[in-house]
Amino acid sequence: MTDGPSFGFDTLQIHAGARPDPATGARQVPIYQTTAYVFRDAEHAAALFNLQEVGYIYSRLTNPTVAALQERVATLEGGAGAVCCSSGHAAQIMALFPIMEPGRNVVVSTRLYGGSITQFSQTIKRFGWSAKFVDFDDMDAVAAAIDEDTRAVFCESIANPGGYITDLDAAAKVADAAGLPLIVDNTSATPYLCRPIEHGATLVVHSMTKYLTGNGTVTGGVVVDSGNFDWSASDKFPSLSAPEPAYHGLKFHETFGPLAFTFHGIAIGLRDLGMTLNPQAAHYTLMGIETLSLRMQRHVENAKRVASWLENHPAVEQVTYAGLASSPYNDRVARICPNGAGGLFTVGLKGGYDACVKFVDSLEIFSHVANLGDTRSLVIHSASTTHRQLTEEQQIAAGAAPNVVRISIGIEDANDLIADLDQALGKASA
Ligand SMILES: *Cc1c(COP(=O)(O)O)cnc(C)c1O
Repeated sequence: MTDGPSFGFDTLQIHAGARPDPATGARQVPIYQTTAYVFRDAEHAAALFNLQEVGYIYSRLTNPTVAALQERVATLEGGAGAVCCSSGHAAQIMALFPIMEPGRNVVVSTRLYGGSITQFSQTIKRFGWSAKFVDFDDMDAVAAAIDEDTRAVFCESIANPGGYITDLDAAAKVADAAGLPLIVDNTSATPYLCRPIEHGATLVVHSMTKYLTGNGTVTGGVVVDSGNFDWSASDKFPSLSAPEPAYHGLKFHETFGPLAFTFHGIAIGLRDLGMTLNPQAAHYTLMGIETLSLRMQRHVENAKRVASWLENHPAVEQVTYAGLASSPYNDRVARICPNGAGGLFTVGLKGGYDACVKFVDSLEIFSHVANLGDTRSLVIHSASTTHRQLTEEQQIAAGAAPNVVRISIGIEDANDLIADLDQALGKASA
């Protein structure tokens, strides 16, 4: 099949990137469980190493199963290319790596996955990079945070732990005015609910661990490049626009045009950082993506029902689901994620920290785990787990205050989910 833009999402999620195997005719994408690939001859090998011919050398760089997944995600996101990596966190480093240098900074939203807040506020300092955290509801503050050393703007579309939708159009406008790429973590939304590139994003990152694979079996990530950014418009991105010493002086943007970022990610990022996705994991994720739209529809439908029910429960202080009429982000849902506000939200309990702990311990269908985006419903008390490393001020800014529980609604029967929440809330407030 040719992956024409005329095909609908439901067709592309099954067919994009996948062709019958040329050697065997296998209809499903085979798991190419191999480390290396035999060169036709020495000349072929040299052409591959010079990036004059595209092909397979070594599975740290490229692998046919992983390549099929890269093409599928790039197609669903409307991007020019994609690079898969070993986790969502690896994808974030891989997205920043070609555009950052020691002394440079990235302007990021305060509303991020807890692990991303730690990665950006602490760990990237080891590379000489830094992050400036800003409230993305205040675009003047985002613009003001950008300085001479800023190289990217980073946010989540539907922000973890839920209920917040970033105005991507506004963020893209600010990044664009400063000549910077906007990087959007689209993990909680998936391309079925939100396509950040259509709102001006340059790069889209995912933790494929979550909804893309969809059943809690894989750790994986991906960076999708829109192909729209002019890396040569300024001298800010020398690794892409100028001769790259790590690849014998190759000029990636001049040589590969809209695929510059993707080629850099493979030829230097995966080659030297080695955060490679394995073909077995790529296979599971390809299988998951085949049903993405169906699952997301049910996640959204269930989340709406459960969130509305919770909102009216006497033990509940507030529910932050952007799909509720009471959410301040209704207009953004319609504009940014028209297929729904996702399956993730938080619930604040009147009984505070102790009630939250009792609540999560009393649930039976919901599992208390540090994960989201699974077919099964999951719950976590962020303040005592994922957001534990943060100060209380950071927890509140990230939507993970001590009396807040994050809920990832699965695709089970909504009546059963409501019954389970009801009995657990009863125990928590007893
Ligand atoms: C889980 C998650 C990550 C990190 O992904 P891993 O695959 O766990 O490394 C990043 N961003 C968001 C929004 C996530 O939910």
